[in-house]
Amino acid sequence: MTRNQGITNSILDLVGETPLIRLHKVTKSLKGSYFAKIEAFNPGHSAKDRIALHIVNDAEKKGILKKGATIVETTSGNTGFSLAMISIVKGYKCILAVSDKSSQDKIDLLKSMGAEVHICPANVAPDDPRSYYEVAKTIHRKTKNSVYINQYFNELNIEAHYKTTGPEIWKQTDGKITHLVVASGTGGTISGTGKYLKEQNPNIKILGVDAVGSVLKRYHETGELDQNEIKPYKIEGLGKNLIPTATDFDVIDIYEKVTDKDAAFAAREIVKTEGIFPGYTSGAVLQATRQYAALDMFSDESVVVLIFPDHGSRYMNKIYNDKWMKSQGFFE
Ligand code: PMP
Repeated sequence: MTRNQGITNSILDLVGETPLIRLHKVTKSLKGSYFAKIEAFNPGHSAKDRIALHIVNDAEKKGILKKGATIVETTSGNTGFSLAMISIVKGYKCILAVSDKSSQDKIDLLKSMGAEVHICPANVAPDDPRSYYEVAKTIHRKTKNSVYINQYFNELNIEAHYKTTGPEIWKQTDGKITHLVVASGTGGTISGTGKYLKEQNPNIKILGVDAVGSVLKRYHETGELDQNEIKPYKIEGLGKNLIPTATDFDVIDIYEKVTDKDAAFAAREIVKTEGIFPGYTSGAVLQATRQYAALDMFSDESVVVLIFPDHGSRYMNKIYNDKWMKSQGFFE
C-alpha cells in the first residue's frame, strides 16, 4: 500500500481502502476460505466514515451545506463519530440524537469529539416523539442552516458503499468472491456493496445478518412488517424496528438472525484466536456465517467475505466486560 507514505493532507483522506484479512482459526471447521474486511481501519474506526463523508461532500456540492451549518443525525454512535470528525475538519456544528442502548463508551467518544448529544429511549415506536428519529427531525426543524443526514432513508448511504466498499472487495479478492456476509442496520452496507458485486457477478450470494428482536428477516421473506417480531435486544447497529429505505431487499438473498449471547461470544473468540479486536456486530457476522455453514451454504471452493463494521474498543463496558456478560446471564 502506498497511501500512508509521505504526508496526508487531512484525516478525511484516509477514509476507505480498508484491509481484507484472511481468517484462520475462527472459520477453520467450515468449508471454504474466509476473509474479514476490517472497517475499523477507517480513521473514525467504522464503516460509517464512508457514508458520512459521501453524504456531507454531496450536500456541499449541491450547496445545501453552507458555511457555519449544523449537521444533525440519528445514530447508534458510529455515524455520529464519523460526522463529528468530519464536522471538526470542515468547520460545522454537529448535533446527534443517540439511542440509550448505545454504549457509554460511544456516547463519551461523541462528546469528546465536540458533538452535542441528545440521548433518546431505544424501546419506543419510531413515530414516538421521544424516539431518536423524531428528536433528530425536531432539532433539524428548529435549527436554522441545518442539514439532516437521515442515513436510514438516504439513497446516498447505499451509493457510498456501491462506489467504495464493493469495488474494494472485488479488487481485493481478484473477482473470486462467492459470498458476502453483512450486518444489516440501515442496510446501506449490504445493499451498496451487494449491488456492486452482483453487477460484476450475479452468482455472488449476499447473506444478511439480522438480530433476534428485529423485523428485517421476516420483512425480507414476507414483505410485511410483523410487530410481533419486535423485542428489546442488546446488539447496537444491527437490525431494526422499522423498514429503512436505505435497504434494497432485492439485493439480499437470505437473512439469518443471531442472538445477543452468540454474537458476544463470537466477538470474544475473534479477539482471542485471530488477534483482531472487533465490535459486537462483527461477532454477529461470524455467528451468522456459522449458521449459514450449518445450512450447507458453502463448499470447499467458496470465497466468503465477512464485513467487520467497527472496533472493539467501543464495547469495553459491554461484551469485553465480564461483569456485563454476567449481568446478561451469558456466563452460566
Ligand atoms: N455494525 C455497526 C456497529 C453499526 O453501527 C452499523 C450501523 N447501524 C451496522 C453494523 C450496520 O450497517 P448498515 O447501517 O450499513 O446496515
